[in-house]
Amino acid sequence: MKRAVFIERDAVLNEVRSGPKQQITPLPLEEFKIIQSADAPLRKLKAAGFILIVTTNQPGLSRGYQSRRELDRMHDMLRRAFPLDDIMVCPHDESDHCPCRKPRPGLLIEAAFKWHLNLDHSFVISNKWQDAEAARTAGCTSLLLESPYVGQVHHDFVLSDLATIVDKILRLKQHVEVA
Ligand SMILES: [Zn+2]
Repeated sequence: MKRAVFIERDAVLNEVRSGPKQQITPLPLEEFKIIQSADAPLRKLKAAGFILIVTTNQPGLSRGYQSRRELDRMHDMLRRAFPLDDIMVCPHDESDHCPCRKPRPGLLIEAAFKWHLNLDHSFVISNKWQDAEAARTAGCTSLLLESPYVGQVHHDFVLSDLATIVDKILRLKQHVEVA
């Protein structure tokens, strides 16, 4: 079985604005700015054999303030910039009570089925608690970037930057292979 690294796109692969309680997702295409420095760390993960999957909540789709066409163009930009295998989107609003809106683990479970993944040996990268909670429920290891949105739920590691997170994942992977 394969292993994956799940990556929240906002604040890891593309820039966001900071809000008081949560960060503000870019909605128009012209506000969507790629974080180029993420490319080298992601290529290290790809070279180590990980499947790279972006997961993201985009409730603007069902609330009507995010157009599917603009979102598709943003995700085309991500695919051109980074060696991604898949991008999985929850389009629902909280009131839809879907299984895929993070912190629920539906996107991870769906990806495991689609890509034949071992979730116990897979990792989640984000800067917020919702992804750590989804990782915990799905059995993945979570690594968060330091941010105001880390919260109080269980997470495995909080580290300062993406390069450090990727080096940590590569060391953890080695431990599993030796054991
Ligand atoms: Zn959903």
